[in-house]
Amino acid sequence: MSLAASTAAVHYRIDPSQTHAHLYRVTLTVAVPAAQQELSLPVWIPGSYLVREFSKNLQSLQAQQGGDPVPLLQLDKHRWRAQCTAGTPLVLRYEVAAYDTSVRTAWLDATRGFFNGTSLCLRVHGQEDAPHTLEVACPPALAGWSLATGLEPVAVAPSGFGLYRARNYDELVDCPVEMGPFWSAQFTACGVAHQLVVAGAAPSLDGERLLRDVQRICEEAIRFWHGAQQPPFTRYVFLLNVVHDGYGGLEHGNSTALICGRRDLPRVGEAATPEGYTTLLGLISHEYFHTWNVKRLRPAEFARYDYACENYTELLWFFEGFTSYYDDLLLRRAGLVDHATYLRLLTKNINQMLQTPGRQVQSVAQASFDAWVKYYRQDENTPNSTVSYYTKGALVGLCLDLALRREGRTTLDDVMRALWQRTGGGPMAETDLLAVLQELSGRDWSGEIGQWAHGTAELPLAELLAAHGIRLQAEPAQIAQRLGLRVNENHGVHIKTVLRGGAAEAAGFMAGDEWLALETPGQAWRLHKLDDVPLYAASATRITALVARDQRLMRLALTLPGAGAASDTVRLDVQDAAVAQRWLGPAQPGPQA
Ligand SMILES: [Zn+2]
Repeated sequence: MSLAASTAAVHYRIDPSQTHAHLYRVTLTVAVPAAQQELSLPVWIPGSYLVREFSKNLQSLQAQQGGDPVPLLQLDKHRWRAQCTAGTPLVLRYEVAAYDTSVRTAWLDATRGFFNGTSLCLRVHGQEDAPHTLEVACPPALAGWSLATGLEPVAVAPSGFGLYRARNYDELVDCPVEMGPFWSAQFTACGVAHQLVVAGAAPSLDGERLLRDVQRICEEAIRFWHGAQQPPFTRYVFLLNVVHDGYGGLEHGNSTALICGRRDLPRVGEAATPEGYTTLLGLISHEYFHTWNVKRLRPAEFARYDYACENYTELLWFFEGFTSYYDDLLLRRAGLVDHATYLRLLTKNINQMLQTPGRQVQSVAQASFDAWVKYYRQDENTPNSTVSYYTKGALVGLCLDLALRREGRTTLDDVMRALWQRTGGGPMAETDLLAVLQELSGRDWSGEIGQWAHGTAELPLAELLAAHGIRLQAEPAQIAQRLGLRVNENHGVHIKTVLRGGAAEAAGFMAGDEWLALETPGQAWRLHKLDDVPLYAASATRITALVARDQRLMRLALTLPGAGAASDTVRLDVQDAAVAQRWLGPAQPGPQA
């Protein structure tokens, strides 16, 4: 079968040869266009709730029909109308600038290429549900490169370059593509083929260990959702890009694009698990859990994505929060972290929430809805005005799980699986969650969900953890919390955020100030680290802070709260290991064989 015979009615040819210009050249052929065919580029990528205006990177768009130019009318920032006749193949040519190292858009240089369809593939209006094909050419200059993607291969060279197929536009743009001289290996998890691609790693990478640990995460997740049954995908691809300093991931239906720091990968000959590696495993676990929770089981509002505008949902506390609850918990169950590490991760999460005054301003349901303008557009006021639906959402998941377990009739695990059954692994509403809770536990949970997800009262963490053998205790607050400040300490103390109701706010500190020095009666000290404030202040409770603001020097009268002041910092201790084990599993991690 010739390549031409295999291409779909909507076919994209991607030429990545312009590596030094960081430009993808795209040729889109629409076999049977409508008269006045409309085309558009998405303004956002599902999973990352910000209007990013991908069309800002599209240039030199031209159209032809039968070799003759076709006029293009630009309708708005991301839509065009080709003034073509119906039925004759329409060919569009354009370039896309690819200079974003994140997992959300596209990158191209002489060492690597990466793209999402949302950045490169114009949507052919009216033909979204038809099969689409994507061909990536491998120019001679890129000999030695490979290509990996979750798309279905049609006619593909051993390198991975060639022709791929998607059932529709949604699937096409849900399969990112990685190209380059990357490290790649395969494993199976519960009988399903998985590919792990790592680009840019240092030579010390212990690929075997990474592969083994990722496999354990996948098996734990598949068993979580399906027991001994098969998952709803036949192949899965991890695309991990390794950089000097970076962190993030984006979930897709049968793949995920991830970014991590070079130092966070396991190294040959080192058996220890550094904190950065635990964080990376947590990220991998998180994105993989999304394969079920948000990509299939998903908000009813996401049943059909609208690529032209914001898609609002109040349920990110469930889809991001509960995924965050399970990402570390599955590491614990897979034996990749021990109890102490798990509780340390949980403590960090609790403290992050407690040190966010915005939790008393917005509920996690409101924070979900506002993700587009708050979580994804953080500024100096964000900690005062909203709360992370990841952080608090995970703790709502924890409270729900612990409360269900205390009553002894069911667990959150059962609830998640029952939701999957009830929705057929598809769109759901909050009423589905409430119905499943009622069914499995024998009582109504709308009061708890109302308070925890739609209210701003404190979560009953201490009480529920105590019922599971774990004591939550107040810890002396660090100086930043005592003052109500978030700072950046590169070359001096720079104020990032002044937290609502704190001592720094009362003194008149402002985001952007540089805290230069402090004065006590009869003395003055240069300040380089916030931790040095108690060193110089000693027993003084009233000091003067010297700050620089817009090149002016100002003196602020600051009252230092005592070390015993009300704390928003806690720690967790295991009080009853046998009771804790019923929730956390056996105390020892599994064999590291
Ligand atoms: Zn997520």
